[in-house]
Amino acid sequence: ANHLRPCAVEAEPGAVRSMGGPAELAGRRFDVLVVGAGFAGAVMAERFAADAGLEVLVIDRRPHVGGNAHDERDAAGILVHRYGPHIFHSNAQEVVDYLSRFTGWRPYEHRVLADLGGGLRVPIPINRTTLNRLYDAGLEDNAAVEAFLAERAEPVDPIRTSEDIVVARVGRDLYERFFRGYTAKQWGLDPSRLDRSVAGRLPVRTDTDDRYFTDRFQAMPAEGYTAMFERILDHPRITVLTGIDFAEARGAVAFDRLVWTGPIDEYFGHAHGPLPYRSLRFHHETHDVERFQPAAVINYPDEAVPHTRITEYKWLTGQQAPRTSISYEYPSAEGDPYYPVPTPENQARYKLYEAMADARPDVIFVGRLATYRYYNMDQVVAQALATYRRAAGR
Ligand code: FAD
Ligand code: UDP
Repeated sequence: ANHLRPCAVEAEPGAVRSMGGPAELAGRRFDVLVVGAGFAGAVMAERFAADAGLEVLVIDRRPHVGGNAHDERDAAGILVHRYGPHIFHSNAQEVVDYLSRFTGWRPYEHRVLADLGGGLRVPIPINRTTLNRLYDAGLEDNAAVEAFLAERAEPVDPIRTSEDIVVARVGRDLYERFFRGYTAKQWGLDPSRLDRSVAGRLPVRTDTDDRYFTDRFQAMPAEGYTAMFERILDHPRITVLTGIDFAEARGAVAFDRLVWTGPIDEYFGHAHGPLPYRSLRFHHETHDVERFQPAAVINYPDEAVPHTRITEYKWLTGQQAPRTSISYEYPSAEGDPYYPVPTPENQARYKLYEAMADARPDVIFVGRLATYRYYNMDQVVAQALATYRRAAGR
């Protein structure tokens, strides 16, 4: 009882039932233990409690709910995302409808500039404006852009890697300027070693649409992600305990079923060797100006610049304040797991763990880390809703 830790979940606006610390767990019994209070864990907990009527305990080793989407006010009172910019976008109506039960929304369309050095900043994803600024190309319509790209594109067959997919669409020069350095920094790997799906996340546009995403629904939770998580978890049959690892909780508490949203290799004691997860180090700063930069996010594709991007949070949240807060992202092999690393070798290793998971019907593996998939938030919510339906026999 001498290691009680405060639960960081605040009572408002969701009344999360939190515990003082692990000592209170001793002897308790739950129908479901959910490891991880991010999107995957929160949705599974809400469904098991509200739909199946089960008693659920949610734990997280971090001192807060929300997982990587957690946001909070910093010392200057600016709402920031502790783990980097999270922009909600989706074409899945089921996901939007589900989350809309727990939050209002602020319409927001994300725009990003790439800083190419020497004061040159152009829209990314590559679009007509990007090409006209970069090459003074005078391209006036979509057909002109297609012809311009076709002249530069190099045929690649089959397209397997992140290098292939970019070079085949836009050619070497644009690949070098926008993708090679950024990707090498972000992943610690040359794009030729990464699956095509990684760089394939970015479209190439022939029009002047400079939005980062084109999903039908693009918005930010009106009061932030953490407030939304508190409402998802606000249920009489859900108990939340933060600042505790599964390794500590498993001996203290009895449960029938486990939902695991942490790294899958961790659950199985790294039996097949560690699965790589890419991490980031964030450097947060507050500046005494209203605006720091001319876009929400500026990417730095130059490999000589150590950070990959700078985010100014007020663009995302719409918050009005005389000061502003930003974060730099420095990719890192060490630290909290943020990204699965999509390479053929890693996928093969994941398959070994997936086979172990398939042999454990008492444990549900769900989420970005537990299924080793480079999923956006809405995809994790969709996966959790579908996983719950299967588990509940719906
Ligand atoms: P997580 O959020 O990682 O939650 C897992 C939780 O489990 C963690 O809180 C962890 O502490 C806990 N946990 C793990 N192991 C244990 C253990 N042994 N004991 C106790 N607790 C444990 N998606 C978008 O849609 N739009 C974006 O703009 C976007 N931007 C992103 C930017 C960055 C920098 C990153 C890293 C991700 C971004 N994402 C974005 C993806 C988004 O973060 C994920 O899709 C989503 O948060 C995954 O939710 P999850 O529940 O699967 O995992
Ligand atoms: N990418 C790049 N240059 C950019 C933006 C993205 O090379 O300016 C590549 C890089 O490999 C990155 C991937 O495209 O990891 C996906 O980018 P996204 O912005 O979707 O990454 P996330 O927001 O998930 O970190």
